[in-house]
Amino acid sequence: MSRLKDKLTQLKQKNLFRERRVRTGKSGRYISVDGRQYINFTSNDYLGLSDHPEILRAAQQAGERFGYGSTGSAFMSGFTSVHQELEYLVAEFTGQERALVFSSGYLANLAVPQSLLSRQDLIIQDKLNHASLVDAAALSRATLKRYGHGNREQLVRLLKAHPKQNKLICTDGVFSMDGDQADLRFMSRMAAKTASMLWVDDAHGIGVRGPTGRGSLEEFELAPEAVFLLSGTFGKAFGTCGAFIAGRHDAIEVLLQRARSYRYNTALPVPDAAAALQAMIVAQQESWRRDKLNQLVLYFKSRMIRAGLPDNGSQSAIQPLLCGSEEKALKLSQALAAQGIFTTAIRPPTVPSNSSRLRITLTSKHETEDIDRLIKVLHSAHR
Ligand code: PMP
Repeated sequence: MSRLKDKLTQLKQKNLFRERRVRTGKSGRYISVDGRQYINFTSNDYLGLSDHPEILRAAQQAGERFGYGSTGSAFMSGFTSVHQELEYLVAEFTGQERALVFSSGYLANLAVPQSLLSRQDLIIQDKLNHASLVDAAALSRATLKRYGHGNREQLVRLLKAHPKQNKLICTDGVFSMDGDQADLRFMSRMAAKTASMLWVDDAHGIGVRGPTGRGSLEEFELAPEAVFLLSGTFGKAFGTCGAFIAGRHDAIEVLLQRARSYRYNTALPVPDAAAALQAMIVAQQESWRRDKLNQLVLYFKSRMIRAGLPDNGSQSAIQPLLCGSEEKALKLSQALAAQGIFTTAIRPPTVPSNSSRLRITLTSKHETEDIDRLIKVLHSAHR
């Protein structure tokens, strides 16, 4: 018991203790937590779809027809015509041959190396990849090698050092805590050259990046075949929940046959699958949401520069403000909260030590005056 207490005390001393805040309404332009309303810069609901009436209606109707719970894993009774339709739509939307829907992005990612790799294989990852990708490597027992964030030379060196091994290169498309993007053109070229498989987790790209929101591959003008597998979640730009892996037919069949996080998990509730399906349709129909978000990102960046605040190089809706120490990040987020602005201080182990930051996210629900307010407060609080 005292060892556990020590652990908790240590976390507090290092400013790494985390507390949940209780939200009592929507997480949109505004958010109400612990009895107070703030302007909200913490949401991954980039297109503002989480309370869209058509999506809510689709969920309601699916619930009435199928019931809420899926009642079992997909191999028992959990796979419905709604899940199937969702998989067809994901395949069509991403241009991949086939897709498999999981209950979450975390579970989807766990499935890939465990299903495809064996002990003697190699999984090569960017050092700033999402935790689910790192955990997925550990579960697989393949050897994990990591290269410095976006470091092409290190990636090439790793690929060349292991010519005979079966290699899976794995990267975030848009990095979840930095907002910058992987150089997918280079990576897909290198994968082809070295007969490696490229797996891109486009959780923060799908739905928002590229001229029609098809994600990072579309943005970089890459064909769907440029990747071996593509991960995406419905919990961010699509404002709902659940996730998918898409790719070649055979690769998806291997996942279906082997993935433990698929087989041993109750399938996504049917209203969630119906909501995700409707969200993909709405995101395509209401392209103004993407356009507005892109405008807001440009506006934010120009105002940051004008205020003499640091430019982070991110072109996406994720706009980190680096603080360094955990204490500094926490204090800055508290100073913003005191002025009615809600942000999250991101600390280790989510980011490397001494790179704690505020993770500011923009969504299509914001207005330019929200950004003006944020920057005014940041200007006086960030020193
Ligand atoms: N991949 C990335 C890059 C993410 O940022 C996240 C969510 N934080 C996930 C996967 C996990 O997705 P989900 O929330 O659907 O489990």
